[in-house]
Amino acid sequence: MTEFIITEDFPKNEAEFDKRFSTEDACFAYLFKRRWPHGFICKRCGHEQYWYSARRLYICKKCEQQHSLIAGTILQNSKKPITSWFKAMWWFTTRKSGVNAINLKDLLGLGSYETAWSWLQKLRSCTVCQGREKLTGKVEADEFYIGGQESGGKRGRAAEHKCAVAIAVEKKGKKLGRIRLQVIDDCSQGSLHDFISNHVQEQSNIITDGWGGYAGLDGKGYQHDRELQKEAPDKASVLPGVHLVISLVKRLILGTFQGRFHEKHLQGYLDEFVFRFNRRSVAFVGKKFMRIAEQTMLTVPLPYRMIIIGAAAQQM
Ligand SMILES: [Zn+2]
Repeated sequence: MTEFIITEDFPKNEAEFDKRFSTEDACFAYLFKRRWPHGFICKRCGHEQYWYSARRLYICKKCEQQHSLIAGTILQNSKKPITSWFKAMWWFTTRKSGVNAINLKDLLGLGSYETAWSWLQKLRSCTVCQGREKLTGKVEADEFYIGGQESGGKRGRAAEHKCAVAIAVEKKGKKLGRIRLQVIDDCSQGSLHDFISNHVQEQSNIITDGWGGYAGLDGKGYQHDRELQKEAPDKASVLPGVHLVISLVKRLILGTFQGRFHEKHLQGYLDEFVFRFNRRSVAFVGKKFMRIAEQTMLTVPLPYRMIIIGAAAQQM
C-alpha cells in the first residue's frame, strides 16, 4: 500500500514566501523537512538523533556519520546563498510561463547569463518526480517533430534538424488529464512501444492514428483503438487532445526560444512544460514550489559541464 506522507507545508502566496524564507536557517529547515519528513534517520545506522554542526552538517549521535542536505543535489557547490535558490524555485514554479534566464539573472543579480541559464537547467532536472505514476484510462498517443523547417516531413525517417517527440495525453471525457512528452530517436515501432510502456499503464485504452509504429500494442496488454483521418468526418475530431497539446508546445518553443534550441536541451524544456501542464489546476501556486523543493532533495546534481554535453536529456 502506498504510504501517504502528509506534508502540505507550503507558502500560499508570495507574501507568505517572502516572510518565511528570508533567512538561510529557514530555508534549510524547510529542506530538512523535505529530506526527512518523519525526522532525521542516519543513512548508515538508522539512528534518529543527531548533532547539528556549525557547517550545517547533521551528525549521527551513534555512528557519527555526517549528512549534508545539499551534497549530491543541484544545490551543491553554489556560491550563492540558499535564499537565492529558494527565490529561483519560487519564480520558476509560480510564474505562469516560468522565468527565462535573462529575467532570472536580473531578479537575483546573478553574475552572468550562463549562470542563470544553468540554474534553470538544474531546476528543470527536478521537474520529473521519481516513480511518478503512469497515465491510465483513455490515452491518446502520437508523435510530432519540432524545430527545423516546418514541412510535411517524412515520418519514418528522422527529418534533418528536427527532433521527434512522442506524446501521450489522458482523456477525461472532454477534458484532458495528465500528459507525457519525450524526445525519441525515431518514430519506429521500437521507440514508440518503449515510450508507451514507460509512460502508460497496461490495460489502458490507447488511441492512435493508423501509423504502423503503433501496431502490436494489443499484444502488450493495451486496448488499442485507431482513429483514421481519412475516415473522420472532420480532421479536428481526430486525436484532439494531442493536437491541442502539440500546438501549446510549439507555441512555447517558438515564443520562448524563437524556434531555436539545442536538441540536447529539448527534453529539459519539455519536462518543464509537462510539470506546468499537469499542475495547471493546482489551487495554490506554492504547492508547485514545494514539489520542486522536494525534488531537489531527491535528484542527482547536474554540474554545468554535464548539462552542456547533454546529460540533461537523460534525466527522465
Ligand atoms: Zn548513524
